[in-house]
Amino acid sequence: MSAIIIDGESVAGKIRTRLIEEIDTLKKRGLCPHLKAVQVGENASSKLYVQNQQKQCETIGITYTLDELPANTKEEALIEHIKKLNNDSQVTGIILQMPLPDGINAKKVQTLIAPHKDVEGMNPINMGELVYGNTKLSPCTAMAAVEIVKSLGIEIRGKEVTIVGRSAIVGKPVSLLMLDLSATPTVCHSGTRDLPAQTRKADILIAAVGKAEMIKGDMVKPGAIVIDVGINRVKEFDTNGNPVMNKNGKPKMKTVGDVEFATAKEVASYITPVPGGVGPVTVVMLLRNTVEALKMSANL
Ligand code: NDP
Repeated sequence: MSAIIIDGESVAGKIRTRLIEEIDTLKKRGLCPHLKAVQVGENASSKLYVQNQQKQCETIGITYTLDELPANTKEEALIEHIKKLNNDSQVTGIILQMPLPDGINAKKVQTLIAPHKDVEGMNPINMGELVYGNTKLSPCTAMAAVEIVKSLGIEIRGKEVTIVGRSAIVGKPVSLLMLDLSATPTVCHSGTRDLPAQTRKADILIAAVGKAEMIKGDMVKPGAIVIDVGINRVKEFDTNGNPVMNKNGKPKMKTVGDVEFATAKEVASYITPVPGGVGPVTVVMLLRNTVEALKMSANL
């Protein structure tokens, strides 16, 4: 059996279409979503993220603006800036770009973003809301993993879900979201005794480990749904096992997931590829959270 490969772009596209309609309706009521990004210092990768976020937002009608603070900005000054944005009624969502310069406690600053503007769902209040089953502003990647499973139209209630990884942004929120859907989640981590036994019992297997191709096909239950959250950069090898070089004479790199795609796809019923699976849906979850944040601010 070869699995159906889930097209993350297609899942994201459908959600994007619904968001465009929703934003249109909100604008007719005088409500305009405005996502404010805050970046401290110059960084090539966050610059790319910012450009991508701006494009994604503007395509669906969300205003996107960027505040660039100098690299020598102190933590207190950044906190003051966030507080100012929290009180700015023109700003409906705030995203703090990572990485931040040394000397700034990213978690501390991030948790100071007002809960109703916290589009990344990282404020402890929003995390706490998850426990109560209120999933309005939850971490984007966790929501993306669950949205993909929902998009398949299968019954989630009663399913065994094994999640490999217990981070605050993926593993833990996925387990709570799955519980809320009446699945039976098991969360694995580095202390789990027999990982293959846990993954092999899963009807739905969600990998968020950060270890390239760690989950092999023989760890997957036949017919399982496999959602691979991992993003790992690894060297590319040719058929003789030699590293492939790029035109600068450096090893050519590629992106792979936490699941060994080639073997897992022969066992699973559905599987997400990396790239092109969870990634595009995560981006659209940020947009959805931005719309939800606006609705929270407007008490809708
Ligand atoms: P973390 O490093 O925060 O967490 C990794 C988790 O995996 C930890 O809970 C760790 O256990 C567990 N783990 C590590 N080794 C093993 C092992 N051998 N057996 C079982 N569990 C193990 O990672 P994140 O949750 O932040 O990210 C996970 C992956 O998802 C990464 O590849 C990251 O790049 C990717 N990612 C993708 C996103 C997307 O949009 N697609 C967004 C965010 C992340 P312990 O707690 O015991 O240390």
